[in-house]
Amino acid sequence: MQLKDKVAFITGSASGIGKEIAIVYAREGASIVIADLNKAAADATAAELTASGAKAVGVAVDVTSEEQVNAAVEQGAAAFGGIDILVSNAGIQIVHPLEEFSFADWKKMLAIHLDGAFLTTRACLKHMYAQGRGGSVIYMGSVHSKEASLLKAPYVTAKHGLIGLCKTVAKEGARHNVRANVICPGFVRTPLVEKQIPEQAKTLGISEDDVIRKVMLKDTVDGEFTTTDDVAQVALMFAAFPTNALTGQSLVVSHGWFMQ
Ligand code: NAD
Repeated sequence: MQLKDKVAFITGSASGIGKEIAIVYAREGASIVIADLNKAAADATAAELTASGAKAVGVAVDVTSEEQVNAAVEQGAAAFGGIDILVSNAGIQIVHPLEEFSFADWKKMLAIHLDGAFLTTRACLKHMYAQGRGGSVIYMGSVHSKEASLLKAPYVTAKHGLIGLCKTVAKEGARHNVRANVICPGFVRTPLVEKQIPEQAKTLGISEDDVIRKVMLKDTVDGEFTTTDDVAQVALMFAAFPTNALTGQSLVVSHGWFMQ
C-alpha cells in the first residue's frame, strides 16, 4: 500500500495509460479522481475501481478550459479531502507534415498538452501547498519530449515543453515538498496509437505493418511496444517516492528507443 491515504487527480484516465495508472494507484491504496473529457467513460472507470474496493469518482473536464479544470479539481478535492498527486496525462495526437498543419490543429495540440498541464498544475498546487503534506506532480511526456519524429511538430513541441514546466514546478514546489517529474513512454498500443497506424500508413505511403515495424518500433532494442503497465509502474515510483531527491527529472520507458 504505497499510496495509502493519498488522493490522485489523473487527467485522461478513462482510457489507455491514464486508466492503467488509476488501477495501479487504487491497488496501492489511493483515492482516485478520474478526470476526463469523456464523462461516461470516466464514470465507468470509477465504477470499476469502486467495485474492486477502491475509492474513485469520475469528473467531467476539458483540460483546455480554465473554468472546467478549476471546478474539476475542487470537486475531486472535496470528494476525498485534498489532492496529493496530479498526473497530467490527457492528450491527443494529430499528424501532418508541417507545411500542411493548420494553425487551428497546432493550437489545439498545444492547448491540450501545455495549457492542460499548466491549468491542472496550478489548480492542484493550491491544494498541495495549503495542505502542507507535500505532493507529486507527474507529467505524461513521451520519447517525443527528447526526440523528434516526422509529422508530429506540435506534439514534439508540446512534449519538449513539459520538461521545462516540470523543472520550474520542481524548483517552486520544493519548499512545500512538492516534486515534479516527467514520464517519457515509447509507443504504447492505446486508442491514441491505434488511430495513428492507418493515418501514418496513408501519409507515408507504406503498409500498416511497416508503420509498426519500420517507424514506431524501429529503434527499440527488441521490437516491442511499451505497455500501459510499464508506464504505470514508473508513475507509481514517482508518486510514492518520499523525498525531494527525485524531482525535476524525466524518465524514458521505451524499450531503449531513446537512450539518455
Ligand atoms: P488514449 O487516447 O487512450 O487516452 C487519452 C484520454 O484523454 C482519453 O480518455 C480522452 O478522452 C482524454 N482526453 C482527450 N482530450 C482531453 C481533454 N481535452 N480533456 C480531458 N481529457 C481529454 O491515449 P493514451 O495513449 O493513453 O495517451 C495518454 C497520454 O500518454 C497522452 O498525453 C499521450 O501523449 C501520452 N503518450 C502516449 C503514448 C502512446 O504510445 N500511447 C506514448 C507516449 C506518450
